[in-house]
Amino acid sequence: MTAPSLYIARADFSRIEAHAKSGLPRESCGLLLGVQADSGWQVSGVEQSRNVAPQDRLDRFEIDPALLLRIQKAARAGGPRMIGVYHSHPDGACEPSQTDLAASWQSGMVWLITAISVERIDTRAYLREDAGFVPVSLQVMETYE
Ligand SMILES: [Zn+2]
Repeated sequence: MTAPSLYIARADFSRIEAHAKSGLPRESCGLLLGVQADSGWQVSGVEQSRNVAPQDRLDRFEIDPALLLRIQKAARAGGPRMIGVYHSHPDGACEPSQTDLAASWQSGMVWLITAISVERIDTRAYLREDAGFVPVSLQVMETYE
């Protein structure tokens, strides 16, 4: 049995990394929409958010509550479900920080973290569990089926 993976289309993946670039020097953030299956998670869309964390904090992100509300309402009306969150770490590590661990997101969400600096850009996936974050294999698909 293979471990569950996070599947994302190249176009959505590129939008997340472009958002990480355009958001510098602050963190960029957004929501991952999609479905969960036995094989893992399939991202069906990405919703960019404004980062509403205090402007003077370069190492924080906060999703726009208005966006969260809109997505939750749409999901209740049959729209795509939120399966996770993405954000960037400018000049940071490509793994969840202590702040991420302390954040009040529910467990079972997948997290995409993009570490971005002048030299490199690197995006990895994690699953938030009660005890902490565990790495998840990230599969960037060239096309949807
Ligand atoms: Zn973080």
